[in-house]
Amino acid sequence: MIVIKTFVPTYFDKFRCIADKCPDTCCAGWEADLDGEIIEKYKTIDGKLGERIKTSLAKDETDCNIFALCENGRCPFLNSCNLCDIQAALGEDFLSKTCSLFPRFFEDFGDMREMGLGFGCPEAARIMLDDSEPFSLCLYEERSDKSGDIDEDFLSELIELREEIFKVLEDNKLSFREKAENTVDLVSAFQNELDDGCFRDGATTIQSFDECISILEKMEYIRPERRDFVSSLKGKKLSNNSLELYHSDFEKLMKYYIFRYFLAYGYDYDVITPIKLGIFACIVISRIYSYLENPDFETRVRVIYSYSKEVEYSDVNMDLLDEAMYMNCSADDLIKLL
Ligand code: SF4
Repeated sequence: MIVIKTFVPTYFDKFRCIADKCPDTCCAGWEADLDGEIIEKYKTIDGKLGERIKTSLAKDETDCNIFALCENGRCPFLNSCNLCDIQAALGEDFLSKTCSLFPRFFEDFGDMREMGLGFGCPEAARIMLDDSEPFSLCLYEERSDKSGDIDEDFLSELIELREEIFKVLEDNKLSFREKAENTVDLVSAFQNELDDGCFRDGATTIQSFDECISILEKMEYIRPERRDFVSSLKGKKLSNNSLELYHSDFEKLMKYYIFRYFLAYGYDYDVITPIKLGIFACIVISRIYSYLENPDFETRVRVIYSYSKEVEYSDVNMDLLDEAMYMNCSADDLIKLL
């Protein structure tokens, strides 16, 4: 047995699913993967519910087990009160790993695990945007018989760099744009070391907000009206005033991107792409704030969780954005759009 150290942000335990009070639901529009363990459990269920489960099981295009969504895009077990029939009848132990984990995410690095809340859930987004404490992590330890190999020295270097970035992002003397610039400088220098002095950032094809929209238009959407909304912003002269006006939202958004993606990308020798993903999100969301003119807290929560839900929770969309960030834009040019 080994001890797994799990680090979570201090706000992590505040999250409780608000279920029927949720302004959205995570059980519509997505086909949640059903893991092997839960499929075995489902085979033991008799009666009407067992029959409903059996007839709802299907495979997606990658041969994963899923519940086929109803015509209106809802999970067949999501009832009219936006509650889950399986959970109501059998309890949380009968939820798949994907369903019970959301909106939490985790990433494993040897005997260290990091867990966080994703912005794709309105309640998680509300908790994270409302958090006024500097970002810090709590440690939990649990025993496990599994652990992967990891280059601990390299991981420590990445963690150190991430801490430096957090210090920059929490430096009250800097404007948000200066924070982004200093972050890009720090990370570019590290990327250059990783690339043995040969780091050249992506060729530039994204030089305007409209080009950012063109990327978003190519994505798949759970709610197509969100694509229509994004398209409607094309050609509009939207100011970037919101960036400093709602500085704290963007600081939290950048910290989220860095906490969620930096170590995983960095361990693959790419520390610059997660920074670009965060800056890209800030560009788009700040322009939407400007369009909405003085959005209140609940509106800002809605904008951020909608962006995150559409962009971050689709492998297709993340691959598309990843490629655009890696190949087609430089961090310096993205900063000019802030
Ligand atoms: S989106 Fe979040 S709050 Fe809403 S039902 Fe899903 S987990 Fe619960």
